[in-house]
Amino acid sequence: MLLEAASATGGRARSRVVDGYSLNIGPHALYRGGAAWPLLRSLGVELRYGRPRLAATKVRVDGEVRRLADLVAMRVRQRGRLLRLLAGHVPPPASGASAAEWIADLLADPVARRIAAVVVRTATYSADLDALAAGAAHGQLAAAGRGVCYLAGGWQSLVDALAARLGETGGEVRCGVPVAAVDHDEGGVGVVRLVDGTELPANRVIVALGDPRQTLRILGGPAAARLAPAVAAMTPVRMAHLDVALRPDQPRLANVFSLDDPVFISVPSDVAAVAPHHGMVIQAGRYLRADDERADHRGELEAALDAARPGWRDDVVDVRYVPSSMVAGDQARTATDGARRRVAAGEAGVPGLALAGDWVGPVGLLADASIASGVAAAAAVLAAPVRARA
Ligand SMILES: Cc1cc2nc3c(=O)[nH]c(=O)nc-3n(C[C@H](O)[C@H](O)[C@H](O)COP(=O)(O)OP(=O)(O)OC[C@H]3O[C@@H](n4cnc5c(N)ncnc54)[C@H](O)[C@@H]3O)c2cc1C
Repeated sequence: MLLEAASATGGRARSRVVDGYSLNIGPHALYRGGAAWPLLRSLGVELRYGRPRLAATKVRVDGEVRRLADLVAMRVRQRGRLLRLLAGHVPPPASGASAAEWIADLLADPVARRIAAVVVRTATYSADLDALAAGAAHGQLAAAGRGVCYLAGGWQSLVDALAARLGETGGEVRCGVPVAAVDHDEGGVGVVRLVDGTELPANRVIVALGDPRQTLRILGGPAAARLAPAVAAMTPVRMAHLDVALRPDQPRLANVFSLDDPVFISVPSDVAAVAPHHGMVIQAGRYLRADDERADHRGELEAALDAARPGWRDDVVDVRYVPSSMVAGDQARTATDGARRRVAAGEAGVPGLALAGDWVGPVGLLADASIASGVAAAAAVLAAPVRARA
């Protein structure tokens, strides 16, 4: 049984559908080389997708928008090395190194370094490459190197496919049902209490709330006490984003990176079916560091769109600005050796209780981590000796 507080399932993987346009919550790509892809396939989830056109990809540098390939050809001395790094075809970095140190070690050329930093930031959503573990950056580049995929129908297609599989296998989904607490002690779980006061007896529970701090509040008891020190050290990854739908018959536009500021313009409609009649979906994101989370970045994102697609305002069908979305509950920090020493699915130490989310487990980043930890959590609760129901 899946208990969901919101009126629909999907969480941050949902898409907003407006007049046939499918808008994800900010820029979203799934990597074919990531952990989720084979797990989804093993569940029978087949996804349709398009892959961003690398040759047409642009970059904003010193206020000008130009082709990334031209910039690399004209301004980068260490081209071969840069391209190998971006494809993840370099040896894994030493554990303990930061992504910034790793890039500086591999590349001497300043423009090559800046391009590498931008691509690592885009693949990991990390605005702070000094805190990001080099190993996590390397893993993401290798996963992306096997294919970056924009999903047809947006990520909602992934949510719907998983919900359909759950239905086919006898699972039950209850939406609009916020959980207040998961009663437990050292020996196991007893009851899931809902906000409306309902008590559901349960001896195997996976907590997959998305937010590590909210997880502590809902768990309370010995599990929260055990997890609290690790959660206190976590640094969530955040992004401000502008999600835009433009009316039909747009010219083509590929993704635009920026060397000038931490802004990325993703255009899924260029290669995936997310807009009707050659309309355009643009998902522009501003990577946030803890010290600029509270600022208003809307003007900056709009200015980036002005440079990439002049006149876009005249064609708007729908636009939504979100000042700060949580991309992941914890950054793949050097302190946890990237994903390797993140809290484990069974870290709560209570038989029958497990955690899942993009801040859990030793595998992958972002949705890859959520899905991989979900599978690990299921195995953990099924293997645990559990209390008989009262
Ligand atoms: C702007 C942005 C861009 C991103 N880009 C990418 C990308 O390119 N690639 C990638 O792999 N990932 C990306 N992600 C991350 C990805 O969306 C998440 O990692 C993934 O969706 C997390 O799934 P989850 O199920 O672990 O958590 P969530 O999606 O947060 O789901 C948690 C669910 O728990 C529910 N809930 C909360 N409280 C309660 C309660 N008390 N009772 C019951 N239910 C509750 C919530 O309503 C929610 O539905 C991005 C995220 C954002 C925000």
